[in-house]
Amino acid sequence: ETRDYQAADAAHHIHAFLDQKALNAEGPRVIVGGERLHLWDNDGKRYLDGMSGLWCTNLGYGRKDLTAAATRQLEQLPYYNMFFHTTHPAVVELSELLFSLLPGHYSHAIYTNSGSEANEVLIRTVRRYWQILGKPEKKIMIGRWNGYHGSTLGATALGGMKFMHEMGGMLPDIEHIDEPYWFAHGGDLTPEEFGLRAARQLEEKILELGADKVAAFVAEPFQGAGGMIFPPETYWPEIQRICRKYDVLLCADEVIGGFGRTGEWFAHQHFGFEPDTLSIAKGLTSGYIPMGGLVLSKRMAEVLVEKGGVFAHGLTYSGHPVAAAVAIANLKALRDEGVVTQVKSDTGPYLQQCLREVFGNHPLVGDIQGTGLVAALQFAEDKATRKRFDNESDIAWRCRTIGFEEGVIIRSTLGRMIMAPALVATRAEIDELVTKTRIAVDRTAQELGL
Ligand code: PLP
Repeated sequence: ETRDYQAADAAHHIHAFLDQKALNAEGPRVIVGGERLHLWDNDGKRYLDGMSGLWCTNLGYGRKDLTAAATRQLEQLPYYNMFFHTTHPAVVELSELLFSLLPGHYSHAIYTNSGSEANEVLIRTVRRYWQILGKPEKKIMIGRWNGYHGSTLGATALGGMKFMHEMGGMLPDIEHIDEPYWFAHGGDLTPEEFGLRAARQLEEKILELGADKVAAFVAEPFQGAGGMIFPPETYWPEIQRICRKYDVLLCADEVIGGFGRTGEWFAHQHFGFEPDTLSIAKGLTSGYIPMGGLVLSKRMAEVLVEKGGVFAHGLTYSGHPVAAAVAIANLKALRDEGVVTQVKSDTGPYLQQCLREVFGNHPLVGDIQGTGLVAALQFAEDKATRKRFDNESDIAWRCRTIGFEEGVIIRSTLGRMIMAPALVATRAEIDELVTKTRIAVDRTAQELGL
C-alpha cells in the first residue's frame, strides 16, 4: 500500500534538496512504472514527465533494447575493471561509438558513475595537466555563481549554489564569476552587449588572480539546475577568446546539455565553441544505469599520455561493462532512430513555438527561453520592466505542486518553470505537456489574483 511505502520511506530516507519533515508529513508519490514520457504511481495516477526524470531519460521509459543490452552483458561479463593492464569489449566499443559522435578534436575519456564524479575527475585532471607541464601553480578553477556541477565536495565548490556553500569547508583554489542572465542582470544593455560584459568578467577575474595561477574556466553551456539560463549569443565566443588568450582551459559541463537536448549532439555545438573537456553523464545511458565520464581533447590527452606517466586516479566501476553496454544501445538508438535530428528539425522548434504562442502574453510569464527540447518560463510581476516577484521561488514551487495535481511534472527553480521532456517526444506528447503546463500556470495566476 502507498501508505506503507511512505511510512518506510520516512523512516529511512533523507531526500535530495527537500525539507524532510514537510515531505514526511505530506508523503512522497510512489512512482512504480513508466512508458515513453508517462509515469504512474502506486495508486494508478498517471503523469506526463516533462523533465525526463532529472534531465536524463532521453529515450523515455520502457525501452526493451536497453534492458536487453544490460541482460546480455550481465550474463557475458557482469564486472571487470581497467586497473590490471586490462580492458573489455563493452567499454572499447562504447568509446569508439562515443568518439564517432563527438567532434574530431576529442580523443580520450575517463569514465565515472555520475556527473558529480565526472567533475571531481575534472578537478584532478586539470591540476595534473598543468603539473605535468611544469606549472603546478596554475591551479585555480573559475566557475559561475548559480552554476551546478554536482553534490560531492569538489563539484559543490566548483558550483555556485550559495546555499550549498553554507556548510563551509569548500575546496580552496576555486573562484566564481556571475551568471550571464540578461533578464535579471542586464539592466539597460541589449542582450548582445550584456553577453560581452558578462564574459569580460572572466577576463577581469583572470587578471585579478594572475593568468599564471588560473587553470580553467568551468561552466554549463546553458545553466540548468541554477535556473535554465541561456546566455546571449555573444557570450561563448568571447569566453573562448579570453580562455585562449590567457591559456586557461575551457571546460564544459555537458551533463544535461549532452546527447541531443538542444538538437545538437552536445550543447557546446549549439552555442558554437570548442571546449577542452566535456563532463558527461545522464543522457549517456538515458538514465537507465549510472554512468558518466570526462572527455578530453587530443591536446590534453597527449600531454597526459605522452608526458604524464602514471595518473594516480581510479574508480572501481570506471567503464563498468553493464553500464557501457546500456550506453552503447542508447547511443545507437539516439543515432539510428534519428532522435537528435528530429529534435533539431521538428520537435524542438515545435515546442519552442508552442510555448511562445501559449505564454507569450500570459500575465504571469515575463520571459521564455529555450532551444531544442529544453525550455524555461520566467515568472515576472512586470514584463516590460523585467520586475520579478519578491517571493518568486514560492510561486514557482506552488505551480510545480499544481502541475503534479494536474498530472504533469515540471520543475521549479527560483522563479522559473523548467521543461525538458524525453527527446523521443512526439508533437502530440508536446501538446499534452504544453496544455497541462498551461493549466498549472493559469491556476497559479488565478491564485495570485492575476
Ligand atoms: N552537472 C550538471 C550540469 C548537472 O545538472 C548535474 C546534475 O543535475 C550534475 C553535474 C551532477 O550529476 P549527478 O547528479 O549525476 O552526480
